[in-house]
Amino acid sequence: MFNSLSDRLTATFKNLRGKGRLSEADVDGTIREIRRALLDADVALPVVRAFTGRIRERALSEEVSGALNPGQQVVKVVNDELVGILGGETRRLNYAKRPPTVIMLAGLQGAGKTTLAGKLAYWLKSEGHRPMLVAADLQRPNAVNQLEIVGERAGAFVYAPEPGNGVGNPVQVATDSLEVAKAKLHDVVIVDTAGRLGIDEELMQQAADIRSAVNPDEVLFVIDAMIGQDAVKTAEAFLEGVDFTGVVLSKLDGDSRGGAALSVAEVTGKPIMFASTGESMKEFGQFHPDRMADRILD
Ligand code: GDP
Repeated sequence: MFNSLSDRLTATFKNLRGKGRLSEADVDGTIREIRRALLDADVALPVVRAFTGRIRERALSEEVSGALNPGQQVVKVVNDELVGILGGETRRLNYAKRPPTVIMLAGLQGAGKTTLAGKLAYWLKSEGHRPMLVAADLQRPNAVNQLEIVGERAGAFVYAPEPGNGVGNPVQVATDSLEVAKAKLHDVVIVDTAGRLGIDEELMQQAADIRSAVNPDEVLFVIDAMIGQDAVKTAEAFLEGVDFTGVVLSKLDGDSRGGAALSVAEVTGKPIMFASTGESMKEFGQFHPDRMADRILD
């Protein structure tokens, strides 16, 4: 069975053991396999091109080591590069020296922000924190309600505007929430913001205004792992709009092989910090670049 890319590459090169260096012909065959696998995994085309270009160069210039056959060697190069783009080590959350730590969430509507807010709170509690959720998505009529439900499931306090008080002004709600957090001794504040189905200048400006008002320690861009080829365009727009500090991949439990992860990491240079894999609060955790590389290569 040679279903996985690693297996296919290893098989292609089985007979080349002992060659001092890989030839261009050897490498080009491999690059075609890698390109196909990455496109199958929904990695954006420009990212595939840049990536395979680097692999080709490295594969041609490296001596084949005694311990690995040439196929395994290329697999190792591909794996190293993937892990490198995906951020190398798991990047940990940046906490404020003086609480509360402020984490702002941004992303398209439906990306999974509200769900993620609950999961993040649940996870922070398991790490010994006292998180608070802030409903600064006042765009969708049901968003505040939804955050309250999610907060209940996570066992976290939700700060939401009272009807008639601050309604329609998410910047004010976010700003006020910091005082509330201090008074109620919450050490982490998670601010949920509004998104639309497409990239929208007005909402991007609103997110940027919230960012300026609360000066967050982290701005997490939440992206649906199933988004495929659109990942690059969306990530670029949010990077420009809110200058996010890290990425969260949601819906990694779907069919997608997670190519969006690679596209976003390569194009923005920002680390992927968390992955969300289902509807339950527990289906969430820190992102591990090496495991994602395995998934893409498999
Ligand atoms: P928001 O508009 O960005 O706040 O997105 P929501 O949190 O409302 O999520 C949109 C939909 O995706 C909801 O139906 C969620 O239940 C679902 N969802 C969110 N995260 C995940 C996930 O990790 N896996 C799956 N399968 N569904 C998710």
